[in-house]
This record gives sequence, C-alpha cells and structure tokens, in this order.
Amino acid sequence: MTIRTSPRLTDMPHYEPGLTTAEVLKRFGLTSAVKLASNESPFPPMPEVAEAVAGGVATLNRYPDGPARTLRRDLAERHGVDPAQVTVGNGSCELLLLAGQALLDPGTTVMSATPSFSLYGHLAAAAGAGAVEVPLADDHGHDLETMAALIDERTRLIIICNPNNPTGVYRSADAIEAFLDQVPEDLPVLVDEAYNEFVAAPDRGRVLSLARERPNLLVTRTFSKAHGLCGLRVGYAVGSEAWVRAIDTVRQPFNTNALAQAAAIESFRRQSELDRRVRATIAARADLVADLQGEGWEVVPSEANFVLALPPPALGGGAAVHRALLERGVIVRDGTSLGCPGRLRISVGTPEEHAVFAGARAALMHPR
Ligand code: PMP
Repeated sequence: MTIRTSPRLTDMPHYEPGLTTAEVLKRFGLTSAVKLASNESPFPPMPEVAEAVAGGVATLNRYPDGPARTLRRDLAERHGVDPAQVTVGNGSCELLLLAGQALLDPGTTVMSATPSFSLYGHLAAAAGAGAVEVPLADDHGHDLETMAALIDERTRLIIICNPNNPTGVYRSADAIEAFLDQVPEDLPVLVDEAYNEFVAAPDRGRVLSLARERPNLLVTRTFSKAHGLCGLRVGYAVGSEAWVRAIDTVRQPFNTNALAQAAAIESFRRQSELDRRVRATIAARADLVADLQGEGWEVVPSEANFVLALPPPALGGGAAVHRALLERGVIVRDGTSLGCPGRLRISVGTPEEHAVFAGARAALMHPR
C-alpha cells in the first residue's frame, strides 16, 4: 500500500551514509575497528566544550536562542562582518537545504560539479528544479571555466565545494574570484567550505572575506569537521545581508539546539587548541599520502581531512580493497558510491589509526 507523495520524491538522490563502526564489528565478527570513512575529526570535543554541553542540560526545558545571537555575534566579530551577514544552521547541510528552499523553483537550475557532495543534487530534486552537474577537470578540481560558460537565464544557484568532497582538490581564492567576476551580480553563488580549516595554502580564508562586499556570495562553514562537533550539528554561513535574509526567512525558528550553540560558542573561542588539532591533521595527512604513495597508491592532492586514492593494481580493484580492509577492521569509503569507482576515500586519522590501516595494507600486500 502506498501513500500520496510528491512525484519529486522519485528524483530524489538517496544519501548513502558510511558504515558505522558498530555495523562493521557485527558484520565481520570483529572486536575493534578504526573508522576513516566519514571525514570526522579523530579528536573528541575539547574538555571545556564537553563542560559547556553538560552545563546546558539543566535548562533544556527552555527553548534555545532562536537566531543564535551570541554565536552569530562571535562569528561576525572574528570574520569582520556585521551580525546581519551571518546565519547559523543545524549543520551546514541544513544551510544548503535552506538555500535550495529559498532560491529554487521549478524551471530554475542549480549548478554544481560532479563528483561532488551528494546533497547538492538533493536541493534541485526537492524543489522540482533542474540540476546542471559539470564534470570535474582532469585534476579532479572544479572546471570553473566550463561552469561559467554554462550559466544561463535559468541558473538560480551555483554551488562550489572548496576543497571538493570527495576529491580533496582546492581551487585558489584567485581562481574563485576570477570565476565570480564572470557571474552576473545578482546570481547567488554558494561556496561550501566545510573543509576550509584543513587548507594549508596561504590564501585560505580569502574567499570568505570576498563575501563582505559581493552581494551574491555566501560561504558556508561547519563545526562538524575541524571542531569535531558533527554529532551536535552546527554550521554557519557568512555572506551578504540579502543572502542571509533569504535563508533566515525559510529556516524554522529554533533550528540550532541549545547544547549545540553552547558547544560551538565555547569551541570557537578556543582557537589555539583548534589550530593545534588542525596542524596535527595536516601533518598526519602528509604522512598518510607519503605512505600510500610509497606503496604504489595514486593519491589525488588534498587540502581536506581526507584523501582520494587509487590502490595499486596488485591489490585488486577499489571495491575489493574496500571489502578486504573492512574484514581487517579498517573502515574507509568505497569511491563507487561517491562517483569515483575504483578509488577509496580515506579520512585522515591519528598516527595510531594510521598504523592499524598500514598493518591491514601490509596484510593485503603479503597474504600468508
Ligand atoms: N559540505 C560538505 C562538502 C561535506 O562533505 C559535508 C559533510 N560531509 C557537509 C557540507 C555537511 O556537514 P555538516 O552538515 O555536518 O555541517
């Protein structure tokens, strides 16, 4: 028996989350596993953040601060913008969905790259709009020239994922600015910077500063990755007042919960500890890349907290390696479900987690 639903549901791409550690332990009869699959932080929330969350429990009978005023003010101060240029969401996923809701109509289109973050396709389908998905350039980064050339009167939203998930490739602020110069001034562009903190290039952050003066630009960031708070769901966006107003018009009044706000406020104030963690991740990324390359893996240059890698042919195809790693308690992401068949997306973990991964690779290379 079916129920009456929108025909749009048929076009809705299915978001495929990675396997949980509990699922893998059960399925393969293991007692331990390392998870390098969902681009999470390997570091638990800072102790002061955990305290702030615990401290917020006693007042959960009250609604949270609907517009997240304190967090908006702190974010605005740090980024040198007016609080009216900042909005906060239930993860940056929510901000993306709200952007779709606020901007798209049937007959309009949203342009993004492919392969890129799967949620972008969802926005178009949810609104009954069209999706224009532009294949990545040969270096696995956005083909900004082709994207600019494909803009037409139906284009209502352009999304750029920088660094791009699942490839990790970063486009410089100069490249983004040159692209923006080719976009009509009233055509909204959203730059998804979920992985911005892990960018080692010196121009990191400059795109967000462009959002101060460009009326069509919105930059989204998240507390899920570098801050390690994905379980609480907080993301934010910085852009023009017009962009922020559009999102605030469609968001539900209490979209970020009180504990999430308390955690984000505390974590954002602890910049030096955040920097230390980010530096550790960037160093671990370099070590992981060197190790994989040393064993014959082809690794796409990444500025994110994950790498996309092609196993050497001797190990078998990506899907086979994915399965063999799971059996040995190492959870990475099979590129097949991310539009990168044959490759694996591996999140950067701690040196200890990398050692377990290296042990599993050695076992695959030299089966007894
Ligand atoms: N953008 C990109 C590119 C992502 O990879 C993710 C998470 N996987 C998100 C946005 C959403 O993150 P969150 O909703 O946890 O902020």
